[in-house]
Amino acid sequence: MPHPTRREFLASTAPAAAAFCSVPRVVRASRTLQDGVDGARVASRMEAIARFGATPEGAFRTAGSDADLAARGAFTGWLEDAGFEVRTDLAGNLIGRLAGTDPALPPLLTGSHLDSVPAGGNFDGVAGSIASLEAAAAIAASGTPLRHPLEVAVFFNEENGKTGSRALAGEVTQDEMDLPVYGGLTLGQALARVGGSPERVTEAALEPGHYAGFLELHIEQGPTLATEGIEIGVVQGIVGIRRFRVRVSGFANHAGTTAMGIRRDALVTAGRFLVAVHEETRAWPGRQVATVGRIEAHPGAANVIPGAVDLSLEIRDLEMETIEALYQRFRDLGRELARRNQTEISFEPYYLSRAAPCDPGFMDTVEAAAESLGFSNLRLPSGAGHDAQSIAVLAPVGMLFVPSRDGISHSPREFTSVSDIVNGTRVLLESLRRLDGSID
Ligand SMILES: [Zn+2]
Repeated sequence: MPHPTRREFLASTAPAAAAFCSVPRVVRASRTLQDGVDGARVASRMEAIARFGATPEGAFRTAGSDADLAARGAFTGWLEDAGFEVRTDLAGNLIGRLAGTDPALPPLLTGSHLDSVPAGGNFDGVAGSIASLEAAAAIAASGTPLRHPLEVAVFFNEENGKTGSRALAGEVTQDEMDLPVYGGLTLGQALARVGGSPERVTEAALEPGHYAGFLELHIEQGPTLATEGIEIGVVQGIVGIRRFRVRVSGFANHAGTTAMGIRRDALVTAGRFLVAVHEETRAWPGRQVATVGRIEAHPGAANVIPGAVDLSLEIRDLEMETIEALYQRFRDLGRELARRNQTEISFEPYYLSRAAPCDPGFMDTVEAAAESLGFSNLRLPSGAGHDAQSIAVLAPVGMLFVPSRDGISHSPREFTSVSDIVNGTRVLLESLRRLDGSID
């Protein structure tokens, strides 16, 4: 099939975005026909969503913006065309439903999000939303319905707090509605604009077991798949995060009159500590990451020995035990470095996000589906948060990644080829069919 909207897309999309959207590789027609996934339709819908909120600086399709409303409107039409019954729930989630052959079974859920960060790209969330729609439409048109009802969700406000999916998990509080979101709105105003209810948002919570399972396709947002030339990432889970405020205390004194041997320079300890964090984390086996992202010396003058330093410390891994073990190690190393430099170090935890492991059965299913279609695949963790993390408290979840060029995301330079998205759509479709047969 030719690509009727490409020229129009490049003409209408902002130059900055267009410059980074190279022409997609040709979708293999024989594969397109076989399972009902239509690559040209995927491409034209990706482009249609990219037009909403396109600017020279990137995509501005923040939750509750005019562009978000327009994108959701287009998506609603596509769901209805595919035969889905569409509703918006109290938390602003746009949900399409297709009946299954066994009405007693809980629904299978797939989907992602259409909102972007300010100056974002055209693939984060959109790829998964369009892939879910395409896989669901292929099922609807196949004449071979699933046993389970099938729901396709576009979650509300993923990018600024995962509001829609967290509300389903019962994690959103009424107070959050007053918080500012992108675009000068409060969260409550943004929610009302998409047809949700700020007054009743907490009633959107579902009971565990409401869904049979959730499967989300997303761009990797990291470089692993693209670098290694692998088509499908089988996500092991979403990493947990712990953050600490670290303070090194020394003694502020005259930088001219205090001899080097008697100084208690907090910044020297802090510098050694951040290097130790980096090297220790690299030396451990595994994919854990640790970062000192902020450092502030006090009093911060050229002629005063730093008397105190504040640092941030963040640790991420799939295993909360590994995060804890790394923290213990950093604390021991920090104390030793501080002692040797006549300073002191303290750690104060202030943020915790629990790791959300993917269901082992879902991982096996996605892997088997990728294998059956001949796609190379790799198991890997997700270092970024996703809606699947929220849904994991309600149902078993799985995720699959498609490659992100150069690992770039939250940027207009974000890019995934249409053929990679179509490959992922086909694995998503095959996985949904297999899950439908294997879970009750
Ligand atoms: Zn996303």
